[in-house]
Amino acid sequence: SASQDSETPRSSAQPDSRASSSELEKLRGYHDLAKDALERAYRKDVEGSIAEAIKLYRLGLSIIYEGLSITVQATGLGAAFHKVAAWRGDMNNWQQHVLERVRDLETMPADSPTVRAPQRITLQRAYSHSPRLQSSAVPPQSHGVASAGRTGAAGSGVIAKEEARLREVIEGEVLDRRPSIRWKDIAGLAGAKQALQEMVILPAQRADLFQGLRAPARGLLLYGPPGNGKTMLAKALASEARATFFNISASSLTSKWHGEAEKLVRMLFKVAAEMQPAIIFIDEIDSILSERSAGEHEASRRLKTQFLVEFDGVANGSERMVVVGATNRPQELDDAVRRRLVKRIYISMPDAGTRRALLQHLLSGQPSRLSKADVERIVAATNNYSGSDLAALCREAAIIPIRDLGPAVSCVPAESIRPMDVGDFEVALRSIRPSVSREQLAAFADWTAQYGTLS
Ligand code: ATP
Ligand code: MG
Repeated sequence: SASQDSETPRSSAQPDSRASSSELEKLRGYHDLAKDALERAYRKDVEGSIAEAIKLYRLGLSIIYEGLSITVQATGLGAAFHKVAAWRGDMNNWQQHVLERVRDLETMPADSPTVRAPQRITLQRAYSHSPRLQSSAVPPQSHGVASAGRTGAAGSGVIAKEEARLREVIEGEVLDRRPSIRWKDIAGLAGAKQALQEMVILPAQRADLFQGLRAPARGLLLYGPPGNGKTMLAKALASEARATFFNISASSLTSKWHGEAEKLVRMLFKVAAEMQPAIIFIDEIDSILSERSAGEHEASRRLKTQFLVEFDGVANGSERMVVVGATNRPQELDDAVRRRLVKRIYISMPDAGTRRALLQHLLSGQPSRLSKADVERIVAATNNYSGSDLAALCREAAIIPIRDLGPAVSCVPAESIRPMDVGDFEVALRSIRPSVSREQLAAFADWTAQYGTLS
């Protein structure tokens, strides 16, 4: 991405602590998710809902396996090292207990007394001292034990296996554990953030308040010209909402799972219901749920139908789930899909204030010699630039001091490179032009007038 590229020369000298801390976040995410799944499994187990319990135990196991396969460079992080050790220790510990329990449940006859007496797994051990730090306790192949797993006594064969396989896909590729973007990383868009806060975050936290007439909308569309933060917003939503976040992109559904995409969609909603509160995010929703046409592929028609059916289940049910779509081509969205995404939020081009904030954010990692007045000039000159155009502009301006060095660049010390100045931006403005045309903007305005709910 923009800021990473421009920082490469500086950060290569030191250990990359940023990458490490995002890995740390991820590990924490897996740890917490596993704990959550196992707690629910245990409850089911105590209740005697054995099949449910096994399912959740397996879910927990597959999360643990994934979590344990993360390698965290924790050396440079001090206190973080102990957290890593504690989380990994917990997961190792749970894994042993759960594997035993699942084996028991699967092999004992249903009326056996041992089945009725689950052993409490000590989930409270999080953050406590851990016996050892293993590099990777479980090789990837053993994944199968957890979810594709032994159908065991049941032996209900093909269907169960198929289900387990789809479930594994959802858990492995669609379930997004703690994306690392936060509200504060996103410049401007106060209106959109506010709307998301009311429609998604608060209802997820206070389900008791948001009932009846106050029940939140279950479908939401972020639309607007490309490169203005729709995808970023959804990712931030996931980390702020403390809900399980399922992120499916059009490409993963249509290319990889072509032909069985509708089965995947069914499983997606099922797993999401088990892990509520949940957010299902469909990026570039227009490309999977576009207007139905005569020449359309049978498979994609089935996919759409399945989606509508599942969506109606969510809209009429009591599950705490919300479907969020994002698109830069709202005109191509299927009518039925559009109707279901009842709140439609326009993510517009950045105004002057947003551009200023965005510039300051982009420039913060890089030495520059820009006065307040210089920044204002750039803000004024980028009236029709999108967020990603601005990022490209800064990247271009940042490279000019390097380019000026010519062949000397290979031996010059990093500190002696001159900071970028307003002249670099003037040059960059000539080569980086706005990517969204006036006609496109007019088309968005039309669509907003007709279908938008917030601007
Ligand atoms: P598309 O419609 O093409 O999918 P999008 O609206 O999803 O575009 P993003 O991928 O979210 O756009 O943003 C593209 C890039 O632009 C981001 O990675 C970020 O660098 C920058 N960007 C855009 N808007 C903002 C913003 N408001 N705050 C911070 N960065 C932004
Ligand atoms: Mg996007």
